[in-house]
Amino acid sequence: MKCNIDTEKCIGCGNCVALTESKVFDFNDDGLANAIVDEVPKDMEETVKEAKEQCPTDAINIEK
Ligand code: SF4
Repeated sequence: MKCNIDTEKCIGCGNCVALTESKVFDFNDDGLANAIVDEVPKDMEETVKEAKEQCPTDAINIEK
């Protein structure tokens, strides 16, 4: 599973960074979240789906 963040939509609330403990998403220099892995670790897939559901601006995209 792959994922990315639309930085045009992200408002930097930090929820996805906190949920994934900075293992999948982390802040870039602009204070917005970025995916920091090419492939989501298996044990993080459910957490990433949860982060997508909770993102207030629907900025997280998941690719199979
Ligand atoms: Fe950005 Fe959404 Fe992550 Fe908040 S939850 S930091 S708005 S991508």
